[in-house]
Amino acid sequence: MNAHQAIFDQLGFAYDSDNIYYQTITSVLNATDVVGMEDSLELILAQPKNEVMVHFPVKMDDGHYELFKGYRVQHNNVLGPYKGGIRYHHDVGLDHIKALAVLMTMKCALVRLPYGGAKGGVKVDPRALSREELTRLTRRFTSAISNVIGPDYDIPAPDVGTNAQTMAWMADTYMNLNEPKQRRGGLGVVTGKPMEFGGSLGRSKATGQGVVFVLEELLPELDLNCADLSFSLIGYGNVGSWTGKLLCERGAKLKAVLDHTGAIANEDGLNAVALDEHVAQQGGVAGFSGGEHITDDQFYESSVDLLIPAALEQMIGPNIANQVQCQVIVEAANAPVTPAGDRVLTERGITVLPAILCNCGGVTVSYFEWKQNRQAETWDLEVVDRLLKKYLIMAARRVRLAAQRYNCDLRTAAYCVALDYIRQVYEYRGIFP
Ligand code: GLU
Repeated sequence: MNAHQAIFDQLGFAYDSDNIYYQTITSVLNATDVVGMEDSLELILAQPKNEVMVHFPVKMDDGHYELFKGYRVQHNNVLGPYKGGIRYHHDVGLDHIKALAVLMTMKCALVRLPYGGAKGGVKVDPRALSREELTRLTRRFTSAISNVIGPDYDIPAPDVGTNAQTMAWMADTYMNLNEPKQRRGGLGVVTGKPMEFGGSLGRSKATGQGVVFVLEELLPELDLNCADLSFSLIGYGNVGSWTGKLLCERGAKLKAVLDHTGAIANEDGLNAVALDEHVAQQGGVAGFSGGEHITDDQFYESSVDLLIPAALEQMIGPNIANQVQCQVIVEAANAPVTPAGDRVLTERGITVLPAILCNCGGVTVSYFEWKQNRQAETWDLEVVDRLLKKYLIMAARRVRLAAQRYNCDLRTAAYCVALDYIRQVYEYRGIFP
């Protein structure tokens, strides 16, 4: 039985250990216990403030209409406007988006960004839609949620299945909907935009760059060094490919990659740049000439220093956790390891570097983009990279200190850092009215 039964009962949650919201909120509540958080705040944080669900029709290229389901979940805004990505994926569902919104609250608090947490998405396979269909879907979805987003209230960004083009359509739709919002300030309604239209240098590589900065800070104490390690990646989209390219630039060897099209490997190292070009053309890693095809089992069993899941949630459960042959799991994706998987990894002595620390580079550069939009500025890449490194090193150090102070694993420590900060702000603000 769950240790937080009173909260679960009061909020009417199902005790389903496979459910991602159950898993996420349980691990956050474990950390609220460690920091000794008040019951009232535990209760507030256990449930999002707002859950918006919309259904909207989109005209498909052949003339027929399809009805889509979209979400925007706003978890908490005690630290500032809601912030978090928009996902296009056929598995998008309410509990998924709720869990990801909680993680955004934790992530922003850990990095000390003046944001709360949110997440949104549409249940759709974006690969199955034409560019025109995607434009219409994005514009109609943006108009459906336009009264709950805004540069001072809730700021979406890219996530799985969306990109800078999606953000450009969102910003343009938002700015066209309402006269005063057409002014330049409307640009800040979303981040992760194209450079030419209010984007920031360094935003597209930001999550991968953040992973590397965190590794450079934390690996030495695990006797590992980016210049001299081997790694494998699950996923070769934005986060996976940038992490791969930046780690290889530092001398690390990319031994294997698994994605939705299959798995490939090369003991001497895959060429991360050539692989990126292959994926851009072919839609996945399968068929890459610079490596040989391997099975999923061979992928998980290949011996590497780091295994970096950079795709979707819940990819590493207990079975795969038993299979993997690595020293460290680096959670570049959100919630890629299930709690049951986590327990197996702990028993096996495999360190897990938690998602809210590893992948917070994306939202950090989103914050820089938003600041640039507000100040009508364009920062040099060196400025973005230097600030990102500073924010991430500080976040990594906070996590390390919390792990010592509370004598806990790094995931719990990362949540403790975030929760301590959120609690302080609640103490000053109080609970309205
Ligand atoms: N979707 C990204 C994440 O999960 C970025 C969010 C943002 O930039 O607001 O962190």
